[in-house]
Amino acid sequence: MTDSLPRIETPSSEQEVAQILKEANRAKTPVTVAGAKTGLTGACTADSGIILSTERFNQIGPVLWDDERNSGSVTVEPGVTLKALEAVLDMYGYFYPPDPGEKAASIGGTAATNASGPRSLAYGPTRAWIRRVKLLLADATPIEITRSKHFAQNGILSMKTTSVKPVSFPLPTYCQPKTKNAAGYFWAPQMDLIDLFIGSEGTLGVFTELELEIRRQPEAVISGMLFFKSETDCFDFSVAAKKTLQPRTLEFFDGNSLKILGDQPGAALLFEQETTKKTEAALAQQWLALARAHGAIVSEELISSEPEDHQAFQQYRYQLPVRVNKQAAENGFRKLGTDFAVPDESARAMFDFYRTELLASGIDYALWGHIGENHLHANLLPKNKEQFDQSTKLYATLAKKAVELGGTVSAEHGIGKLRIPYLEMMVGANGLKEMARIKKLVDPGGILNRGNIFPYELFLSAV
Ligand SMILES: Cc1cc2nc3c(=O)[nH]c(=O)nc-3n(C[C@H](O)[C@H](O)[C@H](O)COP(=O)(O)OP(=O)(O)OC[C@H]3O[C@@H](n4cnc5c(N)ncnc54)[C@H](O)[C@@H]3O)c2cc1C
Repeated sequence: MTDSLPRIETPSSEQEVAQILKEANRAKTPVTVAGAKTGLTGACTADSGIILSTERFNQIGPVLWDDERNSGSVTVEPGVTLKALEAVLDMYGYFYPPDPGEKAASIGGTAATNASGPRSLAYGPTRAWIRRVKLLLADATPIEITRSKHFAQNGILSMKTTSVKPVSFPLPTYCQPKTKNAAGYFWAPQMDLIDLFIGSEGTLGVFTELELEIRRQPEAVISGMLFFKSETDCFDFSVAAKKTLQPRTLEFFDGNSLKILGDQPGAALLFEQETTKKTEAALAQQWLALARAHGAIVSEELISSEPEDHQAFQQYRYQLPVRVNKQAAENGFRKLGTDFAVPDESARAMFDFYRTELLASGIDYALWGHIGENHLHANLLPKNKEQFDQSTKLYATLAKKAVELGGTVSAEHGIGKLRIPYLEMMVGANGLKEMARIKKLVDPGGILNRGNIFPYELFLSAV
């Protein structure tokens, strides 16, 4: 294989994907799978081989509902975007709980990265909402995995479906943090085979169809924007709200985030809670009282049960990364955004560490995100080469702290090509080797998404 620009392929059927993979396997050509390319880890970049785009896999199957179980499902192709799915489900009064902030993301991409979003505080990440997948292994073998049918037994995970040659391996041993996590291959003692592929960032197979679980939209939702004089007041409020109320969303904005959004410095919290028409007014009063008790500067019109207001609050939240990305582009240097989460007992220590280290650095930054899951994004905005190098070091210092506190170096974005050293910090050199060994068994030619999650050299030396 000579080094040349990658060739882009846009298949629209499983047969076409199979054909591409078969040829790639024969010629040992690397294949990089691309969904909507909104990922933040460089996972879809390649300097040669084939880029297999799923953009033409955009069909949404019928929406099915089971009244007895009070849940339903929809089968989609992997290139369907969150936005397109949301629009269809909305027409029927249903919703798909995972809600990563970037609605242009594809379902295949969100499954491959086990993405999550503000609502995962109540609903968990993508993994919990995938009932069945169809995928093609690197050698084009089709497999279909339905949740709750294939489990690891006695420490061994096997793929023994009728259509695939048996693959069996001992479960790995690297630590899995007690937080939401999208760093490296998932494993658990009695794990479900489907969960190996979800979150494997396209390194083990290409999703061609996914059956997703959906829910009926709640009768009412109240949401609000609460402003605080200090970031620590806001943090303390978030802890109290998590304990005493049942929010589905708790999103934090530090003073710099508010300045970027054109507001007064201080801190703010966006919350959402599902409720009923009967209880929504009383619940709003509970939020108000708790917020006031924590020193919030509360204005009643910023707590609402009107869908238009929810959208306005969400829009305020979604504007933040957009504005930060714009600022980074103007600076002419890539921003560095963390994706660490820590367990509950370490949340305050990590919060204090972020603030101390970021302030001391003298580099422009903003700190925001999913505070209900102890998962904040610190975004460093270097303005010159010296600051960029300093930011890289600071990123590593923050990652080390998250790991020391029992957390993850990637809670929702994945590892891709940019975050491998931090994954090593978390699982050790041996953990990376264990992942490379799994990859060697499932994709012996090392065709799929080469150089993602762990270095290709590690794959080559894996036995
Ligand atoms: C402004 C902004 C906000 C964001 N907010 C969030 C957020 O709140 N939560 C969150 O989790 N992420 C967030 N992200 C990151 C990104 O949107 C997610 O990682 C998303 O899951 C990527 O989906 P995608 O379709 O763009 O995948 P891509 O970027 O195209 O690919 C991501 C990975 O998935 C693999 N992949 C894609 N399709 C398939 C397939 N069919 N089979 C196998 N592998 C496949 C790719 O090879 C790659 O490894 C945000 C990004 C931006 C730009």
